[in-house]
Amino acid sequence: MRWLVVVLACVALSVAEDAPGKKVESVPVENVVREETVDGQQVHFDGYTVYRLVPQDTSQLQYIASLETDQDVPYDFWKHPSEPGKYVDINVAPQKKEKFEKEIEARNITSAVLIPDLEQEIRNCTANGPNPDDPSDRNHESFFLDYRSYGEIVKHLDLLVYKYNSKEKGLLVEKHKIGLSSEKRDLFVLQITTATTNPKKSIWLDAGMHAREWIAPPTVMYIVEELLKGYREDGNVTNILNNFTIYAMPMVNPDGYEYSRTVNRMWRKTRSVQRGFSLNGLLGRVGGCVGVDPNRNFRFQWGSAGASTNCAMDTYAGPSAFSEPETHAMSDFIYIRREHMLAYLTFHAYSQMWMTPWGYTNALPPNYNKMMEVADKATRALTRVHGTRYRTGSSTNLLYAASGGSDDWAHGVAKIPYSYTVELRDDGRYGFVLPTSHIIPTGEETWAGVKAMLQELVHRRDDKVE
Ligand SMILES: [Zn+2]
Repeated sequence: MRWLVVVLACVALSVAEDAPGKKVESVPVENVVREETVDGQQVHFDGYTVYRLVPQDTSQLQYIASLETDQDVPYDFWKHPSEPGKYVDINVAPQKKEKFEKEIEARNITSAVLIPDLEQEIRNCTANGPNPDDPSDRNHESFFLDYRSYGEIVKHLDLLVYKYNSKEKGLLVEKHKIGLSSEKRDLFVLQITTATTNPKKSIWLDAGMHAREWIAPPTVMYIVEELLKGYREDGNVTNILNNFTIYAMPMVNPDGYEYSRTVNRMWRKTRSVQRGFSLNGLLGRVGGCVGVDPNRNFRFQWGSAGASTNCAMDTYAGPSAFSEPETHAMSDFIYIRREHMLAYLTFHAYSQMWMTPWGYTNALPPNYNKMMEVADKATRALTRVHGTRYRTGSSTNLLYAASGGSDDWAHGVAKIPYSYTVELRDDGRYGFVLPTSHIIPTGEETWAGVKAMLQELVHRRDDKVE
């Protein structure tokens, strides 16, 4: 086997988590990695190894793509195959490792181990955080020292309202309940505005659509907090808030997120119960599928490319567009405010990209050049903070087609002139199990990017979709 000795950062090749390769629909075999246990016990990943493969030609690519529908124990793809030269990250179960390595070697596919033992990496990722039972760890400053539960995030939103909502200061902070998840958790949007007579435009920020992408919710919380702290303290922030109402939804998929915390760290989808059936040979379980990929569930070119019709797959688009209460509530909230919405940003992980629509086709959207100008400004500001490098471009061209995404819907249906999907840290060393020590640096740099974007958008506040 030809191993890459080079540090992973050098493999600056694309493909993000939201860009699946071509799906071949076949027998709906549930992936054991993403399967809940019968009794709801925690899933462990002892001996699981995450590999990075770089296919050099179409035959290598086709072989890798065929693993996605392997009917024995399917592989958990962290980055889907797209084209030769672009990397693919795969989480491989211990019982498949020997066969996998032999096949890769026989085909002379370039490969490297990203994470030798996933269970160990998950433990490392969570071991050093503060103790949630210690009241001193629950204060304002320590919020970003660990990945927080849905309940802790909601409490922190309440704290922000309590602390910053001030008529005297002219800063209005409100928490709106916009609906319920499948498991009846409240869905919240934080609204930040100022009491000026200026007619305002609106900016939308969301995170937590994909459960296992833990870095995204605290990043949006960090941005929100910087906006609140900066009002009347930082002239640029004051100017931003005097021009824009900010809507932030830091936890779009609370059911999936809590499931990823308590049962299966690698869970991605919602937790709605689907009518289909799944057979899991290993666990001997027969039952319905659970969950829909919320970022394939938006009603714009729904199900047209890069989304699965197989309810067992991680990119399952759902039985219909907006079948999920989470995407339904969120899109309704945005749609009725669409005339004032200037920018839509959704935060995911990982791969460090600031992407524009379209996701369903390699054609470019109406405002592509304008969106790219702003994205380039944002990522330059972001890189200046810690040197983290981002790439910009349309998601299909940077990656691969994936239809039913929220950014496509925001631009194509809600006609929001600036629409982005941001894939946060890292570039693959830790993937979804990014250590807690990255939360604050990721917040700092992403805030710098968003701030630069918002300052630029003040000058573009009357732009429309062309
Ligand atoms: Zn995602």
